[in-house]
Amino acid sequence: MRLLVISDIHANLPAFEAVLNDSKGEWDRIWFLGDLVGYGPNPNECVTLLRQYDHIALSGNHDWAVLGKLDINAFNPDARTAIEWTQTALEEDNRTFLDSLPPIRTQTPFLLAHASPRQPVWEYILDVQTAILNFAHLEIETPFCLVGHTHNPVIFQEVDSNRVVFRELTAYRRTLLDKGRYIINPGSVGQPRDSDPRAAYALLDNEAMSWEYRRVEYPVEETQEQMRQLKMPYRLVARLQYGW
Ligand code: ZN
Repeated sequence: MRLLVISDIHANLPAFEAVLNDSKGEWDRIWFLGDLVGYGPNPNECVTLLRQYDHIALSGNHDWAVLGKLDINAFNPDARTAIEWTQTALEEDNRTFLDSLPPIRTQTPFLLAHASPRQPVWEYILDVQTAILNFAHLEIETPFCLVGHTHNPVIFQEVDSNRVVFRELTAYRRTLLDKGRYIINPGSVGQPRDSDPRAAYALLDNEAMSWEYRRVEYPVEETQEQMRQLKMPYRLVARLQYGW
């Protein structure tokens, strides 16, 4: 099956739409890795749009905070402001949908987790050392792990039992997942943090076992204008155009 793998939409509808347009006709189902809401101005629109497609979805730490499943004091003040606004804006039906999503699930031979296999909601896998600790938490039947949460696209490959490496990512080029175990992050649709403001996503063919990482421009200023009208914190508005 051909899968659109996306994560961390964060209520950014223009970014989500750009990803869907750019990948149109190239996939059969969405795998969404969590954080549908928080930060952005379109929580209801993003939930509604995702539900229009055949999908498997996870919840993330921002979704949990909006639902009251995580203490919002664990977030920085700007993120907290966005979470509190989202709590007032989210419609009941969409809230129920978010509440039904788990933060981790198995699609053998893949394990899907919002943050990490050992801490599905909160841990950031940003370096090889943290990746190594998490490879130890993968079961034999799930050697491929997909995560979001850091907003940084990356492939960690465990080549053999004592070597984990970063794989070079080139947009629009396929990587074959053919040797060892993997922890892969498609990056963030709605709030990239790798100094590239374009929306990130990936296409996975789980029969050919190929992964294709992509970036697409979206009208950042549309999202920013909506956030200004909602009086969202300046830093959250500004960061979108720089990708940090
Ligand atoms: Zn996130």
